[in-house]
Amino acid sequence: MSTERTLSIIKPDAMAKHIIGDIINRFEKNNLHVVAARMMHLSQSEAEQFYLVHHARPFYADLVSFMSSGPVLVMVLEGDDAIAKNRQIMGATNPKEALPGTIRADLAESIDHNAVHGSDAAETARHEIAFFFKPEELVG
Ligand code: ATP
Ligand code: MG
Repeated sequence: MSTERTLSIIKPDAMAKHIIGDIINRFEKNNLHVVAARMMHLSQSEAEQFYLVHHARPFYADLVSFMSSGPVLVMVLEGDDAIAKNRQIMGATNPKEALPGTIRADLAESIDHNAVHGSDAAETARHEIAFFFKPEELVG
């Protein structure tokens, strides 16, 4: 195992439910530590850029509109195998397919309102962390 960093976003649906404490608790209980955090309201163009990889998908416009519809909490998580571990804690993209006990199964409603984002690979994690944070904004 190696120590990794990954980007996590608590999405507008979870922010509106005031469950950021529950979500962060799940990360911390699994030894993923928050080393950077910022609450922000993404502009449409920031959301477009962040999810550019999905620009050709039919759900892109809705995804961008949802991600810029309210505040989000953007975080960098650090720990052993942080990228895969975060994805495990999050559960499947579609909450209806997510394993019980995962964030999406327990706290999300639908595939397009699924509570959290997590980087899906080492290169994506580096890119997504740099999208939101300067190196000196990461602590620990
Ligand atoms: P995220 O990137 O948000 O962590 P993910 O990696 O599990 O989620 P992706 O395939 O990267 O899933 O899709 C990005 C987001 O686009 C998903 O979180 C979901 O909200 C939305 N999405 C993905 N597939 C669909 C779909 N078939 N219909 C509607 N929305 C979708
Ligand atoms: Mg993804």
